Amino acid sequence: MDICSIIDSLQCLADLHLHLDGSVSVASARRLAAIEKVSLPDDDEILRNMLMVSEDCADLNEYLERFSLPVSLMQSKESLGAAAYDLCITLAEQGLMYAEIRFAPQKHCEKGLTQKEAVMAVLDGIRRSGFSAGLILCCMRDGKDNSVENLETVRLSSEFQNKGVCACDLAGAEALFPNENYISIFDEAGRLGVKLTVHSGEALGAGSVRTALENGADRIGHGVRSAEDENVVSLLKEKDIPLEICPTSNINTCVVQNVSELPVRKFMEQGIRVTINTDNMSVSSTDIKNELKKNSKSIWIWRAGT
Ligand SMILES: [Zn+2]
Repeated sequence: MDICSIIDSLQCLADLHLHLDGSVSVASARRLAAIEKVSLPDDDEILRNMLMVSEDCADLNEYLERFSLPVSLMQSKESLGAAAYDLCITLAEQGLMYAEIRFAPQKHCEKGLTQKEAVMAVLDGIRRSGFSAGLILCCMRDGKDNSVENLETVRLSSEFQNKGVCACDLAGAEALFPNENYISIFDEAGRLGVKLTVHSGEALGAGSVRTALENGADRIGHGVRSAEDENVVSLLKEKDIPLEICPTSNINTCVVQNVSELPVRKFMEQGIRVTINTDNMSVSSTDIKNELKKNSKSIWIWRAGT
């Protein structure tokens, strides 16, 4: 049996880096639009293209523009719960046994919800699905003065720790708003004992990963550009920090041109913990089995030689 057939048959998969708003299917978008009373194009193909990035996407900033429609469809308790439920059902059908789903509660308060209400709605959707998932709450770098909202997100991560929330994250446009601008988030997460994963080493280089590591990150979202500095790779090894690598997303945002450029095998040989994830199933038009198959050469060769 070849590796792709083995991956197809697996029913014990996990995805640790998966954004709720980037993983809304066409069917789910229609359900959410009905709840939110938003009109969408009748043609499924047109709607699918509105939810996914084009092949000529220039960078992470353009990639992030694809989130505005799904976020607009999740501005009530009912729609947030439905989106989480639909995603969990899809993941179970795809053969996943566990996922960590992330979203930024502060992006879902446009119609009067509080961050806490948004978190509780998503947790309710996950619970109703029966699927095993942890929730990660994202702080945002987006150019606004949202330091108050970000600190509230960290505190909610603490309040709901062991009640469905497993960690806090820092997401958004890394190159425009670097980690150095958000040290208060690292400090608050450390003070409250909240696990912290940070999008780093994607749009910016290894220095961004170093800043995250030196300020207490427990995991790194993406982190592929850590390979640009051997000292940062050594720091990852020394601190035993896992990377959440998302291959198709990295191609979409032009971090690499193709999957063979990703240093997955090199990291594994250096003893770095590597996980393969989807990032955004709809925006990147992918799923976890597709991501594993894309990297099967690196993983399979390494395993065979170990
Ligand atoms: Zn991400």
